Amino acid sequence: MAVAAAPAETVEGAAPRRTGTLRLIARNRLALAGMCVLAVLVLIALAAPILPLPDPDATEPANRLLLPMSVGHLLGTDALGRDILSRLVWGMRVSLAVGISATLVAALLGSAIGLAAGYAGGWTDSILMRGIDMVMAFPYILLALAIVAVLGPGLVNALYAIAVVNIPFFARNIRGVTLGLARREFVDAARLSGKSNLRIVTGEILPNVMPVIVVTMSTTVGWMILETAGLSFLGLGAQPPQADLGSMLGEGRKILFNAPHVSIAPGLLIFVLVMSINLVGDGVRDALDPRLRSGALSRPSARTAIRRTGAPAPRERDAALDVVGLRTEFDIGGRVHRAVGGVDLALRGGECLGLVGESGSGKSVTAMSVMGLVPTPPGRIAAGAARMDGEDLFALPDERIRQLRGAAVAYVFQDPLSSLHPLHRVGDQIVEAVRAHRPLSRRQARDRAAALLALVRIPNPRARLDAYPHELSGGMRQRVCIAMALANEPAILIADEPTTALDVTVQARILSLMRGLQDEGGTAVLFITHDFGVVSAICDQVAVMYAGRIVETGATDAVIAAPAHPYTRGLIDCVPVLGEPGRRITPIEGHPPPIDRLPEGCAFADRCPRVQDDCRSGEIALDAIGAGRAVRCLHPLVSGGADG
Ligand code: ADP
Ligand code: MG
Repeated sequence: MAVAAAPAETVEGAAPRRTGTLRLIARNRLALAGMCVLAVLVLIALAAPILPLPDPDATEPANRLLLPMSVGHLLGTDALGRDILSRLVWGMRVSLAVGISATLVAALLGSAIGLAAGYAGGWTDSILMRGIDMVMAFPYILLALAIVAVLGPGLVNALYAIAVVNIPFFARNIRGVTLGLARREFVDAARLSGKSNLRIVTGEILPNVMPVIVVTMSTTVGWMILETAGLSFLGLGAQPPQADLGSMLGEGRKILFNAPHVSIAPGLLIFVLVMSINLVGDGVRDALDPRLRSGALSRPSARTAIRRTGAPAPRERDAALDVVGLRTEFDIGGRVHRAVGGVDLALRGGECLGLVGESGSGKSVTAMSVMGLVPTPPGRIAAGAARMDGEDLFALPDERIRQLRGAAVAYVFQDPLSSLHPLHRVGDQIVEAVRAHRPLSRRQARDRAAALLALVRIPNPRARLDAYPHELSGGMRQRVCIAMALANEPAILIADEPTTALDVTVQARILSLMRGLQDEGGTAVLFITHDFGVVSAICDQVAVMYAGRIVETGATDAVIAAPAHPYTRGLIDCVPVLGEPGRRITPIEGHPPPIDRLPEGCAFADRCPRVQDDCRSGEIALDAIGAGRAVRCLHPLVSGGADG
């Protein structure tokens, strides 16, 4: 129900997504220019038979080497009196046809070999790849020359030669991608469902590999046209009288000084043609690569962009971390995604604040905004302030932020499997974290690393220092991440679902470890989770988040005993209680609203059992209800005095 928004909006929202790729290419000015030039050239080449051009092969000895702009010969004539313009147009037709066909042949064969090798693995892979390696062992153009020498000169043989020498390029690329995909779970699932290998390759793997093939093709067409021209230039491709751009260049070379226009015209055309194809190829690559598409790779930035006008006043001066009115947005495809829409949080020393909410409610983005870790582009901090001991983190210079990261403010990221570097030993990674902020010798830092591993209850810590991440279980890796976060005794520890990947026993240990940290070290912990069970075990305060906003805050005991927001109630009702088999678990129906089209009024209204007409309009404030509690609801389950 929530998804079916007003029809007009849906149409408008769907349009950019569908034309996304074309639009992205069009937004890239160079690619657009290349596309226009290429379109004109291709149209001319296609229209060659109907254009009013003289026969390209008709010789006219009386009109040899006419200069450009001569009557009847716009670009002049060559040494045999043939019209250069006409030969250019027909020659371009040939060059394009050969270049594109060679690309298709190379892509087809190369991709097939790559798919087979990557999917089958083992002997098949070894044999196919050694064959490819043998082709690659010869210098590229020499191999093409040798093939043409064996087959005999001619355009079709040149096409084969060019295709063959390019097969390894496709095969290697596609094999690499396939290898990564063939061991993934969705392929295992397809295998389990009884699909044949052929159907898995064509149905599961090929669609994932297709963008790579298309990108590789678009970036090699230009190259293949150049190679064909090279072979023709040497007299091994197009044979007289047939014109292609390379052979025209070769013929013009002999009279370069007497009649430069004969070779300059095809030379320029080759340049323009290949250049425009390459620009389009680059544009296609940028548009098809999802990471480039979101802008993540094109302009990486070490810190989230801050685009706020003025900083709001502090709310709690004595808090270790005081976040006020934080708004973080993503700009994607011309739409603004409001991931965090005005969040206030106060984290006091020695206290654990639980940030709870469904997946996608903006918890991670809130936490990452504090230290400027949200990727820009597409992210930006649009409003708000985060103060640590009075220092406005959003106003600090980059250098100061770098000092604070990992020292005063430490993170444990959501995914323990990808936050450790796979090629370094875990000990070295902890040592690095320690030495980035403290002037310790390697030996001292190693001692400290071992002590940290012992602290997070990793058995035999000394020996484990030399382990690589893949030698540890998921739970151990998560504990290594926690050890790294604790390396510099942070004042603030932000833990993003640190126990989600762990089994219950390890989870309980980690939770008691974190409890100990606050009690002994006075560390303030921002604990992100979607599990109210974990909240009740560790958090003093809780903030419930929905669709980018805090909907309820208060002391954990009070909130769990009597939740005020229907959403909080729903989250608590989802937690199973051991020993209470009769308890019914009630899921919250429906889905959160899309963050690029948040509804007016309460974002939870569509899923709320208590919804009334006034919930769907205006701004609903986070109102205090009793001591230290607040709720963003017009009809809360608990009210502070005045009835709701
Ligand atoms: P969670 O509460 O599960 O931690 P997040 O904070 O990760 O949720 O995400 C909140 C919203 O922001 C989601 O809708 C997500 O799609 C969006 N989002 C997060 N990171 C990015 C990103 N790098 N680019 C675009 N959108 C993002
Ligand atoms: Mg998250």
